[in-house]
Amino acid sequence: MTPDELKAIVRTVPDFPAPGIRFRDITTLIGHGEGFAAAVAHLADRARAAGAEAVAGMEARGFIFGAAVAVTLGVGFVPVRKPGKLPVETISADYALEYGSDRLEIDPGAVAAGQKVAIVDDLIATGGTALAAAALLRKAGAQVPAALFAIDLPDLGGADRLRAEGIAVEALMQFE
Ligand code: IMP
Repeated sequence: MTPDELKAIVRTVPDFPAPGIRFRDITTLIGHGEGFAAAVAHLADRARAAGAEAVAGMEARGFIFGAAVAVTLGVGFVPVRKPGKLPVETISADYALEYGSDRLEIDPGAVAAGQKVAIVDDLIATGGTALAAAALLRKAGAQVPAALFAIDLPDLGGADRLRAEGIAVEALMQFE
């Protein structure tokens, strides 16, 4: 399936999580066997082209796509977690969300020095989540050549913010 065909499977939910927000919901995409496989294959092609030696995904929807991409490439997966979930001493970053603020944590031992780690998530909006993940991975010693998303909301400027940090950004589809 092409990215345009995949876009047609993404559900838009009006007024979630707040009035006036059109929530782009990947539940319908990952529930479609052929669509999910094609989305993962497209993301994996891009991760491979970026030379990814590992894949990092953000809790929780980034785990769905990121782990599948890692398996497709035959590389390891680095979970970027919500606070208090990892059983070891972590490094953390606070970040602004489109709807509030939050914190992400990683195990600093999960990446090797200089390792090329591609970030994968379902969607980029303002880019705050992905920038926090990239900062953590870099702090742990990794390189972050690319960040890959199923969906980009370009009006919110996240992809441009990542590119300004020297991270190549690709998404399978865009929504206004
Ligand atoms: P950002 O940090 O502003 O780029 O927001 C991206 C994060 O918020 C991702 O982890 C998404 O899962 C989530 N998010 C923001 N807007 C939406 C949406 O419309 N649909 C699904 N997830 C969203």
